[in-house]
Amino acid sequence: MAPRKTISLVIPAYKEASNVLPLYEELAPVIKLLSASYECEILFVDDGSPDGTWDEISSLSARDRKVSGISLSRNFGKELAITAGLKYAKGDAVITLDADGQHPVEKIPDFVEKWREGYDIVYNRRPEIQGASAFKRLTSKLFYALFNSISEFRLEPGTTDYRLLDRSVVDAYLRFNEKNRMYRWLVDWLWFRKIALVFDARKRLGGESSYGYGKLFALAVNNLTSFSFFPLKFVGYMGFAIVSLGSLLLILQLLDKIGLVHMGFSNLGIVVVINTIMVGVVLMSLGLIGLYIANIHEEVIGRPLYVVRRQANIK
Ligand code: UDP
Ligand code: MG
Repeated sequence: MAPRKTISLVIPAYKEASNVLPLYEELAPVIKLLSASYECEILFVDDGSPDGTWDEISSLSARDRKVSGISLSRNFGKELAITAGLKYAKGDAVITLDADGQHPVEKIPDFVEKWREGYDIVYNRRPEIQGASAFKRLTSKLFYALFNSISEFRLEPGTTDYRLLDRSVVDAYLRFNEKNRMYRWLVDWLWFRKIALVFDARKRLGGESSYGYGKLFALAVNNLTSFSFFPLKFVGYMGFAIVSLGSLLLILQLLDKIGLVHMGFSNLGIVVVINTIMVGVVLMSLGLIGLYIANIHEEVIGRPLYVVRRQANIK
């Protein structure tokens, strides 16, 4: 008989002391169900919480050998906490979910079912950002529209970090070196064979979200700049436009000066236009430097050149 496959649950937790135990209790029946066909592992990643999160995790792990945990030396942020968890997870499939109970655990068997059907990535998409303010919905729409119009690949709005990854995807993910990262977007970048499960997130069990508007905005800027060089090129284009229009105007002014046309430009006007052209030249140069920086950036983050999905008869 082939050895049983393992499913790992990776759960990043920051200041979730009050949620670890309730989540574990919610998970218990699901784990029991899955254990009929799979080995199961629950891996908590304490992201340097100042509260008792780690104590909760370690006392759980003393009680239940399916539970294990790592505790990061300080708060590295959710994306890196998940990354650490993926590194330590042993599963043939790894499911990432939040520690605050927002990701309904009763859906786990559905994720596993899709994995068995042959999908490499099974991810949750929310029907519509519900419960969010109109402002948050609008900014989110704007962000995705902007991102998708300037980036090399398409991001799907409304997806969450509640995901199942096949071992092949986990291994590919672990090849990324970049420090600035969004877990779900790198997974989207990998692409593979994927399918969405559409359902809504729940309310937190307790505590409060660590992601306010400021942090979300910083994430958005970070990701626009790490997936797209358009902002850099835009400066260059602007410079080019200014130089072109400015030069046309200058030619008209000079023709006016020698009396070929009569448009009544002043001498001061000529100075202003020359000055503006110079600004355009500076912007164009910035854009050019930007392109070199973009190349350096690409080399430095060193994303995999390609990713293999399956192999057949490769020795
Ligand atoms: N989290 C983490 N490190 C952080 C912030 C959050 O590991 O620095 C965890 C947190 O414990 C939770 C998940 O990431 O399990 C999602 O965080 P949160 O609920 O604060 O975000 P939201 O649900 O509002 O997106
Ligand atoms: Mg949450």
